[in-house]
Amino acid sequence: MAELRFDGQTVVVTGAGGGLGRAYALFFGARGANVVVNDLGGSFKGEGKSSKAADVVVDEIKSKGGKAVGNYDSVENGEAIIETAIKNFGRIDVLINNAGILRDVSFKNMKDQDWDLIMAVHVRGAYKCARAAWPHFRKQKYGRVISTASAAGLFGSFGQCNYSAAKLALVGFTETLAKEGLKYNILCNTIAPIAASRMTQTVMPPDVLENLKPEWVVPLVAVLTHKSNSETGSIFEVGGGHIAKLRWERSKGALYKTDSSLTPGAVLSKWNEVNDFSQPEYPTGPANFMELLEEAQKLAPNKP
Ligand code: NAD
Repeated sequence: MAELRFDGQTVVVTGAGGGLGRAYALFFGARGANVVVNDLGGSFKGEGKSSKAADVVVDEIKSKGGKAVGNYDSVENGEAIIETAIKNFGRIDVLINNAGILRDVSFKNMKDQDWDLIMAVHVRGAYKCARAAWPHFRKQKYGRVISTASAAGLFGSFGQCNYSAAKLALVGFTETLAKEGLKYNILCNTIAPIAASRMTQTVMPPDVLENLKPEWVVPLVAVLTHKSNSETGSIFEVGGGHIAKLRWERSKGALYKTDSSLTPGAVLSKWNEVNDFSQPEYPTGPANFMELLEEAQKLAPNKP
């Protein structure tokens, strides 16, 4: 199979000074892309800043013959990051929303600052970067966006209600971008990765981390951001050599008369049907309520 290449394209990777972002940046740099290596350079809790993290990765890409430029803005300043791509390379083709921080604390002890900072970096940051890239994508009728969610967002995780909320927000955000971008060939997907990085090194033992190299997340991201891709609006779990797709499952559900007989007791009388997944649907949108309403009304023969 031919090598997937990105010659002449510009890829913006946020939070590319370490961990997963660094691995993406090095890959794209080696596959012919112009890379904007964005990183604020602070701690994993979002404190401080430094240009060093991005500069080291830019030097690494350049030393191997690649093309890269650093950007040290917070993702909350997405316009400046995309402007770095336009100013230096004249275009943007791929946006990888990857920058992230943690403020883990039990819900009981959560402070507004822990909540707000997580939302600002993950949700507002991804929004600001995508918002600034969007007019370019639409104009050139081409764009690829990756958002970085997390198992914590999909399933919940003790001590991470702020992070979980932000990460699931990115799923909804990206699903909508996928729908709005489709006719402009802007394809948007979400990944929930697992990889060794400074974020995970304090919570996982070294032998586990050894099997979770960030480099093993990169190939999926390359496939989803390549011009040959047609996948959009999807969610993938990826890490440690495993890639799987996630989707919604809806039970067939119960149908109730839409009249005064729809009481809490009536709900309970068909509770098993509500929870019965033996005839599942895999929806990509809300239930067809007009159809369901008609069916429900058929159950209420006394209605005019
Ligand atoms: P990491 O800490 O190594 O990388 C995150 C990078 O983002 C850092 O270099 C940091 O300086 C940068 N950053 C933080 N705030 C920023 C801001 N405001 N503006 C610009 N850059 C900023 O961690 P990682 O594990 O490589 O995480 C990458 C992404 O993957 C994050 O969004 C994280 O939430 C997500 N994620 C990681 C895992 C995992 O197992 N490592 C699991 C699920 C999700």
